[in-house]
Amino acid sequence: MRLSRYFLPILKETPKEADIVSHRLMLRTGMIRQEAAGIYAWLPLGYKVLKKVEQVVREEQNRAGAIEVLMPTIQSADLWRESGRYDDYGKEMLRIKDRHERDMLFGPTNEEMITEIFRASVRSYRDLPLNLYHIQWKFRDEVRPRFGVMRSREFLMKDAYSFDLDQAGARVSYNKMFVAYLRTFARLGLKAIPMAADSGPIGGDMSHEFIILAKTGESEVFCDKELLDLPIPGEDTDFEADLSPIVSRWLESYAATDEKHDAARFEAEVPADRRISARGIEVGHIFYFGTKYSAPMKAVVAGPDGSENPVHMGSYGIGPTRLVAAIIEASHDDAGIIWPESVAPFDVGLINLKSGDAATDAACEDLYAKLTGAGRDVLYDDTGERAGSKFATAELIGLPWQLIVGPKGLAAGEVELKNRATGERRSLSADSAVSKLA
Ligand code: ATP
Ligand code: MG
Ligand code: MG
Ligand code: MG
Repeated sequence: MRLSRYFLPILKETPKEADIVSHRLMLRTGMIRQEAAGIYAWLPLGYKVLKKVEQVVREEQNRAGAIEVLMPTIQSADLWRESGRYDDYGKEMLRIKDRHERDMLFGPTNEEMITEIFRASVRSYRDLPLNLYHIQWKFRDEVRPRFGVMRSREFLMKDAYSFDLDQAGARVSYNKMFVAYLRTFARLGLKAIPMAADSGPIGGDMSHEFIILAKTGESEVFCDKELLDLPIPGEDTDFEADLSPIVSRWLESYAATDEKHDAARFEAEVPADRRISARGIEVGHIFYFGTKYSAPMKAVVAGPDGSENPVHMGSYGIGPTRLVAAIIEASHDDAGIIWPESVAPFDVGLINLKSGDAATDAACEDLYAKLTGAGRDVLYDDTGERAGSKFATAELIGLPWQLIVGPKGLAAGEVELKNRATGERRSLSADSAVSKLA
């Protein structure tokens, strides 16, 4: 992509309305634009990152055996009357009437709808286990939308729903999602710690929030420092094997959100120098809720003995839009964003220090063609801006590599390659730069 033809509406001023760094940087780099309170348009740079985050989430869901579907954003109130949640959900639900005066709503989550889909066709334990997910926009009329897409009203969510014959089966499904989440967040360059979370009326130990430690986080959390360095299950993890040893290791060390925090246990189990008491961002939440929806909505399956019982369910959420902001919170410096390679909007920023100079233009065109040909996604700054301003833009938008080309270097047969994360620069021939990056 040539920057001269791109749509990158960078703001010169730091927006006053933004309280946290990710929100400021997302506005400054023209990733998003607020259209109403807590409602954002995703502009090209932001949308590319969002798509990449979404894709990592999707790949790990698929790897764990979940199957993708797409449910609508608009739901019928009658479905929610069946579970009893239409009245319970309160003001966070955006309620809508259609032209026939029928009550509709913009989905804040999809337990009811997936239960309806399940009960329409699944009757036997032979069709279990089953895990269906989608990645779809949700709407929650948050009392206090803030921090940009971190807490917005319209946001993207990946929500998966597992179906099993009994609680033992549900635990196996839960463990798969647990491990998939560890892998997902690690691939996004994040250290997300699974922490015991409120499990509601069902009780039990099958509710975990995946939390990123951050000063601006809205949750109060407590954990053992050891968890920050536990190994992440590899790509070769067999999701059909018993995953409980992996999960148990993570649950062995203390980690709890404030609702589940037990100060006496924390002090007894964790040595003082390993106690982390901090703020955190909830990026994912996994939850076993048994027959809470299947019982009232009559989603029953026949077991091997022929008896019919409500199916055991769990739900598993991740917020890709919130994650974009969380990644920036975790990875930036004074000059701007530092994208992990896995979600960077472009792989390389090619900087032409003297647009209009024939030799420099030709060298840049050649590099652009070669890198693009090798499948690299390149943002070529071919604009007439000053070098200083091009550097500032490159630092601000935080692409992993900057390839800097100017007349002086070219005269010496060299271009410069800069790594955004480490700041390391080196001069090398154009050909070496291509083989390094391609
Ligand atoms: P929170 O405690 O932050 O309000 P939640 O517990 O209500 O979140 P869940 O119902 O568990 O959220 O939804 C699953 C995931 O969806 C969350 O872990 C988060 O990543 C994302 N999410 C929830 N609410 C929002 C929001 N208002 N804006 C952006 N992402 C959100
Ligand atoms: Mg909430
Ligand atoms: Mg929460
Ligand atoms: Mg939650």
